[in-house]
Amino acid sequence: MTEIDKLIQGHKRFHDNYFVENEHEQLFAELSQGQNPSTLVIACSDSRVDPAIIMDSKPGDLFVIRNVANLVPPYEIGGGYHGVSAALEFAVRYLNVEHVIVMGHQHCGGIRTLVSGMPVDAPSEFIQSWVNIAQSAKQSVLKEMPHATAEEHMCACEKASILVSMENLRTFPWVAQAVEQGKLNLHGWYFDIESGTLSAHDPKLARFEPLI
Ligand SMILES: [Zn+2]
Repeated sequence: MTEIDKLIQGHKRFHDNYFVENEHEQLFAELSQGQNPSTLVIACSDSRVDPAIIMDSKPGDLFVIRNVANLVPPYEIGGGYHGVSAALEFAVRYLNVEHVIVMGHQHCGGIRTLVSGMPVDAPSEFIQSWVNIAQSAKQSVLKEMPHATAEEHMCACEKASILVSMENLRTFPWVAQAVEQGKLNLHGWYFDIESGTLSAHDPKLARFEPLI
């Protein structure tokens, strides 16, 4: 069976089992009229960290942006193709989501590239400049943990880059305004692949604490 056949078989299982369950059939009938998610999740493109699976959510629950290293660029107008900013604008200004979760994760290849750079012989036209959005996270981690191991740097950088993305979220005027008005809450979460657990950044404690 080819990889594509596996996906088609998976779709058949979805269609024959999941979709036709009473509860889900009703849900999709409602969703065909429109979406009204309460939460935007910004997650990594990494195949191991699907937010809908990790949070066991249903279609219609989460509006999701996925990109390399779950980064949010700073607010910038003019030129360029601002895919992340367009999806963010749609979620915040038109869907009026109440929560934005930036969900980073353990063993992130994008953050590894930020910390160590691309291998010398690896072709990269876009990856390095994209992950450099979180350059300040790398600098602060190296400064604060000069004697840490490479693995400790990685983990700290994965978490620090979540905070950089949260800062960048606030550079979008309509995000800052919604937060100020109490209509929007920003969350920084971190998924530990090895233990399968999520932690949330606690600004008062200045660290990530397990959610369960
Ligand atoms: Zn990643």
